[in-house]
Amino acid sequence: MEHKNQVFDNVLDLVGNTPLIKLNKITSECSCEFFAKVEAFNPGHSSKDRIALYIIEQAEKQGILKPGDTIIETTSGNTGFSLAMVSVIKGYDCILAVSSKSSADKIDMLKTMGAKVYVCPANVSADDPRSYYQVAKRLHDEIKGSVYINQYFNQLNIDAHYNSTGPEIWKQTEGKITHLVACSGTGGTISGTAKYLKEKNPNIKIIGVDAFGSVLKKYHETKEFDEKEIYPYRIEGLGKNLIPAATDFDIIDEFVKVTDEASAHTAREIAKTEGMFVGYTSGAAMQAVKQLEADGKFSKNDMVVVIFPDHGSRYMSKVYSDKWMNEQGFFDSVNVEAAQTIQYIK
Ligand code: PMP
Repeated sequence: MEHKNQVFDNVLDLVGNTPLIKLNKITSECSCEFFAKVEAFNPGHSSKDRIALYIIEQAEKQGILKPGDTIIETTSGNTGFSLAMVSVIKGYDCILAVSSKSSADKIDMLKTMGAKVYVCPANVSADDPRSYYQVAKRLHDEIKGSVYINQYFNQLNIDAHYNSTGPEIWKQTEGKITHLVACSGTGGTISGTAKYLKEKNPNIKIIGVDAFGSVLKKYHETKEFDEKEIYPYRIEGLGKNLIPAATDFDIIDEFVKVTDEASAHTAREIAKTEGMFVGYTSGAAMQAVKQLEADGKFSKNDMVVVIFPDHGSRYMSKVYSDKWMNEQGFFDSVNVEAAQTIQYIK
């Protein structure tokens, strides 16, 4: 939104229109140009601001939401934070059922924004009554005047990105984008953005990023939901143990899987090379770019856009904690002393 003198009515006016920033050093050995769509510039510091605002405004337009009503969602943290932020401004109650895998910082941030939080076990199946899906459903049934956002199964999640992220990237690249690399969790970001971009130019390649331990890549390739693919992993917000209806698998050309360890190191590398303090899945997306580059998937005149979904501050107790990295064994293969930049003067 254009505003005179950069003065805004409230924080929601700042949702979307995030910058596209050229990557320079991390891609210096690479074959073509790479740009990051840096979603941390949203007021809630992630791409989820877009869907929170869009879905709530659609519900208001349809007369489903009235002031004082309750917004309920299952969330790995970011969607919850964005919904809580929109609820504060618009006067709704916000209840969030989150996975116990979410970082402590993320859960504290939700509380700071006034949300009521239920922390549910991460490693139970989606139909277990303790899972965050079932807890959210139960609360929705129990609370009158509540709306369940249900981002994994809500077409509006795709529409939000079709109406904002897609057009922004098309305009920012002046239609020159050749590849989009985006993490897939609910699939809303990649599906909506891809739909818009492919309508403009069907030759644009859409590459989804998935985690080892998630079913998405195999489902895309075989249309088979293979439970044997599922095991616990550490990256939050990427990959899934079910098939989300908010993912348009047909629009995605290929999926790349990335490991927890490589993604963590790449997230740290983005900060050190590009001065961008971004989240774990940004590291995952960049790691996928590296793997694609190594496989010779890009050529000289390509323009690759990679989406960095959120801000690094959410991961201080994880990826950006040396203690946590060490506990995961992620430092086993690197020279920790050489990487050490803190010196304690005694
Ligand atoms: N990164 C992070 C940090 C997220 O929270 C999410 C959302 N689950 C994603 C990436 C993936 O975005 P989407 O749900 O639109 O696929």
